[in-house]
Amino acid sequence: MPATILDGKQLARQLRSELAEEVVEFIQNNGVVPCLAAVLVGDNPASEVYVRNKRRACETVGIESQLHRLGADASSDDLLKLIAKLNKDAEVHGILVQLPLPPQIDKNRVVLAISPNKDVDAFHPENVGRLVQGRPRFLPCTPQGVQQLLLRSGIEITGRHVVILGRSEIVGRPLSIMLSQHGKGGDATVTLCHSRSRDLPSITRLADILIVAIGRARFVTADMVKPGAAVVDVGVNRTEAGLVGDVNYDAVATVAGAITPVPGGVGPLTIAMLLRNTLLAAQSLET
Ligand code: NAP
Repeated sequence: MPATILDGKQLARQLRSELAEEVVEFIQNNGVVPCLAAVLVGDNPASEVYVRNKRRACETVGIESQLHRLGADASSDDLLKLIAKLNKDAEVHGILVQLPLPPQIDKNRVVLAISPNKDVDAFHPENVGRLVQGRPRFLPCTPQGVQQLLLRSGIEITGRHVVILGRSEIVGRPLSIMLSQHGKGGDATVTLCHSRSRDLPSITRLADILIVAIGRARFVTADMVKPGAAVVDVGVNRTEAGLVGDVNYDAVATVAGAITPVPGGVGPLTIAMLLRNTLLAAQSLET
């Protein structure tokens, strides 16, 4: 039987329409419009596209967005000054600094400078710590998108073996924590793999749910997947054939029970979760 396609684009549409209703209710109750401030440093074309898409998505759900630009030669201090201003601005509920930053800017100082209450990417150590302790303020956007995709697609997580490829701070590691927490969307047995893991296929073949976030085009092949497993491909790789994931989609779809496409899988959900976090920030700052 061919794998069920986990359609992230359609789910993101549904999540956005639910969110739009919540935003209307929030505005009616508080007389305040939730607002996301995006900060773009330099002129990286991919970052321009990401920020434009995020701002457009804000519009579709009734969240206001601001764009703050700094030149490619901006210093860490220039950016920290702007963040301090946005932290104080009562009209701004969420702050997003688009990564990557130019090399002269100290990313760690930037992450620390954003108020944890406005840190809608959930990168601040306070928010990471809360996540680890099972008391999250915000869930990081891409891991939250993957978790929602599994939950809303009716893929059982509790008690199942999840194998995650990739231990990055923004995807693999927080996801491993979220899926192993107590409660809904958690309670999985999680194995976290990385570039030093030995004999990956023998591990990935144990997965009921295989999540791949390594940034290697079509790395996961059919022989690495247990028949019937759910495969979530977070990877986005630009190749001559266009955007492809970390999973060899055509081959793996013949073995898996369910699979995400790239594009149209996890990507749209990441943005939907950023909007969710912005509303959450507004709710906790305004009420
Ligand atoms: P990253 O920071 O580059 O980390 C890559 C991880 O993969 C590292 O843990 C690395 O291991 C591991 N890895 C690399 N090659 C491997 C191999 N051959 N075997 C096993 N593990 C390997 O990656 P990231 O930022 O998480 O991004 C991963 C992918 O997801 C990229 O394609 C990125 O564009 C995409 N992404 C998509 C979204 C979305 O919204 N769809 C969001 C974020 C990222 P070591 O730790 O040992 O180096």
